[in-house]
Amino acid sequence: QRAAAADAPVTPGALADGTAIPLLANLGSPAGAAEAVELGAEGVGLFRTEFLFLSHSQAPTVAQQRAAYTQLLEAFPGKKVVVRVLDAGSDKPLPFLNDAHEENPALGLRGLRALRASEDILREQLTALAEADAATSADLWVMAPMVSTVEETEYFVSLAREYGIKTAGVMVEVPSIALLADRVLPHADFASIGTNDLTQYTLAADRLLGSVASFQDPWHPAVLRLIREVGAAGGAAGKPVGICGEAAADPLLAVVLVGLGATSLSMAPTALADVRATLLTHSLEDARRIAEAALAANEAAAARQAAQQAASPHA
Ligand code: PEP
Ligand code: MG
Repeated sequence: QRAAAADAPVTPGALADGTAIPLLANLGSPAGAAEAVELGAEGVGLFRTEFLFLSHSQAPTVAQQRAAYTQLLEAFPGKKVVVRVLDAGSDKPLPFLNDAHEENPALGLRGLRALRASEDILREQLTALAEADAATSADLWVMAPMVSTVEETEYFVSLAREYGIKTAGVMVEVPSIALLADRVLPHADFASIGTNDLTQYTLAADRLLGSVASFQDPWHPAVLRLIREVGAAGGAAGKPVGICGEAAADPLLAVVLVGLGATSLSMAPTALADVRATLLTHSLEDARRIAEAALAANEAAAARQAAQQAASPHA
C-alpha cells in the first residue's frame, strides 16, 4: 500500500465539485511524520503533545519540547500543523499535571483546566512552540483541549497571542462549547471538533468502558446536531472548523461531517486514502443532503443507514 501511494501522486482532498477539503494527519510523535506525508497528509490536524511526555514524572523542559516541535514542523514546510497543548487527565494522565485522585477524572481537572492550574507549564509549552515556529517554515496553529466556556477560550487565545502564536483555537469536545459555538468562534481563529470526547460527553458514556461502548457512536444524531451548530457558527464567522476525532476516518461519516460544515478532516494517516476516494464521489450539495438524512434519524445505527441510502447513486 505504501509503495502504491508513493508511485501515484496523491491529490489533495476535494469533493466531486472541486470544493477543497484538506485531509490532515493525527500524530502523537514527530516519528510518524514521514509516513503521514507518504500517505498524502496535507499537514497535521492534531498533534497530541501529551504522548511525548506520558512517562515523564517531571514537566518537560522548554529545550526538550522545542526539539520535538521543531522536528515535527520541519517535516511540513509551508503546511498547516495544528499542535494541541497538553491534554492531561482522564485517559491520558501526566504525573506532573495530575496529582490529585479524582473519582471521575473525565469530568475533572483535565486538558486546559489542568494547564491553567499549573500555568507555568502552559507558558513553557507556548514558549517552546513559538521558538520552534520561528525556526521553521510550517504554518503553526495551536489549540487547547477540553475547553468548556467562552471565558476559557478568551483566556487561552489571549495567552497564546502573548507568545506570538498567530493562529490560536479551541477544541470542541464538550457539549457546552458546541452549543455556544456562535459566541466562541468570534474569540478564536478556528475550532477543531474532537468527536471522541464530544461523543463521550454527549452520551454520558465513558469512552474506555466496554460495557457502554455501544453509546460511544459519533453517528448519534445528538452528536451530529452539535457538530451542525459548530459548522454553522464557523460558516457565519468565516472561521475554519476541522474534525480531528476518529469519526473523520469513517468515509461515509466524513461526507456527513463536511455536509454539516466541517472545512478540513484529520485522521490516522492509514485512513486518508479511503476518505479521499469517498469525498471525490460527492458534491457539497450531496454532502448536505446526506447529512440531513442522518440528522433526521433517532439512533446512531439508523443515521448511518439513512446516510448510506442517501449516498447511494440510486437515491
Ligand atoms: C477527541 O476527543 O476526539 C480527540 C481528538 O482527542 P483525544 O482522542 O486525544 O482525546
Ligand atoms: Mg479529546
